[in-house]
Amino acid sequence: MADRQTATGDIGLVQAFVNTVDLQDGPEELTDPNTLKAWLVAKGLLDGSQSVDAADLKHAIALREAIRGVIGANSGSRVYPVDIATLNEAATKSGLRMRFAADGRPRLEPEATGVVAAMGRIVASMYTAMDGEDWTRLKLCSSQTCRWAFYDRSKNHSSRWCTMASCGNRQKARRFRSSNKTAL
Ligand SMILES: [Zn+2]
Repeated sequence: MADRQTATGDIGLVQAFVNTVDLQDGPEELTDPNTLKAWLVAKGLLDGSQSVDAADLKHAIALREAIRGVIGANSGSRVYPVDIATLNEAATKSGLRMRFAADGRPRLEPEATGVVAAMGRIVASMYTAMDGEDWTRLKLCSSQTCRWAFYDRSKNHSSRWCTMASCGNRQKARRFRSSNKTAL
């Protein structure tokens, strides 16, 4: 959907990864190891010569959903221990360590290679993004069937749906139907 708000930089990368699937209407972009590879190469997270297998795809999707869970905290949902465990596992497996880059600034970089390293780079982006105050603007759509990650550009950070036109109105219609039911 064109009018869904997107962020840039580290937040934008985390958001783009989480939104590789539209849980409500599809599609799922990461359908097999090849589509995962293409996505990671396009984002500069993986070298095209590296191989990607089914276990990598499983790891990537598990991490994606754990990140979605943690973003939910910005929209008032509780964070589940299983999501934290998945994030910690991805960080450990990729061997993230602090390195000073050419610009003299420190950042987290993975020691591992392949998709494990690419997942580490996404976790590192999340770490950097969470350090800034804009992180709390990255939220999940309040529609339980949608849970799209959107960037809340409203002045008072009060948006609840990825788009008012789709999810916001759907929610309103549902409320209207159930209040009519009680009236009958
Ligand atoms: Zn939505």
